[in-house]
Amino acid sequence: MSTADIIDGKAFAEGLRARVTKAVATLSAKHGTAPGLAVVLVGEDPASQVYVRNKNKQTAEAGMASFEHKLPTETSQSDLLDLIAQLNTDETVDGILVQLPLPDQIDDQAVLDAIAPEKDVDGFHVINTGKLATGGDSLVPCTPLGCLLMLRDRLGDLSGKRAIVVGRSNIVGKPMAALLLRESCTVTIAHSRTVDLPEECRRADIVVAAVGRPEMVKGDWIKPGATVIDVGINRIPAPERGEGKHRLVGDVEFASASQVAGAITPVPGGVGPMTIACLLRNTVEAACRRRGWELPEM
Ligand code: NDP
Repeated sequence: MSTADIIDGKAFAEGLRARVTKAVATLSAKHGTAPGLAVVLVGEDPASQVYVRNKNKQTAEAGMASFEHKLPTETSQSDLLDLIAQLNTDETVDGILVQLPLPDQIDDQAVLDAIAPEKDVDGFHVINTGKLATGGDSLVPCTPLGCLLMLRDRLGDLSGKRAIVVGRSNIVGKPMAALLLRESCTVTIAHSRTVDLPEECRRADIVVAAVGRPEMVKGDWIKPGATVIDVGINRIPAPERGEGKHRLVGDVEFASASQVAGAITPVPGGVGPMTIACLLRNTVEAACRRRGWELPEM
């Protein structure tokens, strides 16, 4: 029996998408044109294909223009950079997203840094990461933004809370830590070299796990009443569901952690759905900034 409140990311994301859809309708009525998102996929990675399909579908459902660019696996870096340059100057495109990972012949960061910072709805451009780190106004990476919105909704003011972010990747861990610092949390960033991770976690009022290791964070690592945000998406064998079947689990051992935490996100249905909702939100924000429109409430 679970004692923690379950943070319903699916419902939260639906609410955010409804607000974005309303904002898009308001902007379209006022300015005669809707924000547009271009999504670029290079190669055939099956998970990326699913993500891109969902992104395009939800962009269109929100009333925005959706531009899909699918390039073959053998695309050269210079051809990809040419496409980015074209999208940078396309007036109908407000947001550009390049789906990661890119094939080996392409330098991810060189491509991300070629995106015009004002169209960088993933928030990965060095200008935007720099602004986030130095307290400037920037487009913020979607997954950490989704985590932050759920934390604020649950806890209100985060100021003074002890937070630990387990994982220091550029797409989740580091921007998450920067956002929590911006909220005046006392932030610990843990990683594979952290000594005594369980003890570090036990001190935290907020635990964000972004590690990519199935159920690594155990219930007895969690401070009673803490809020736990599980970013991990891990596919593990599930023979109990039949031969060759799999299931998704997070980086947190939900069964034990939900006995101790005050609130916890499930996997699936927690952080995952928030990522695309935040992408849509970022696209509206990017459109308003670039076009000088007033940003509607979202
Ligand atoms: P990365 O592999 O880029 O980073 C993993 C981080 O975890 C690294 O900083 C690594 O440390 C740290 N780590 C690895 N092993 C340990 C350990 N034993 N103890 C402590 N820290 C450890 O992963 P991502 O940040 O890209 O993704 C993390 C998870 O989030 C994955 O499961 C991914 O699928 C999921 N994800 C979910 C999204 C969503 O929409 N919900 C979006 C993006 C990611 P070090 O730096 O020292 O190597």
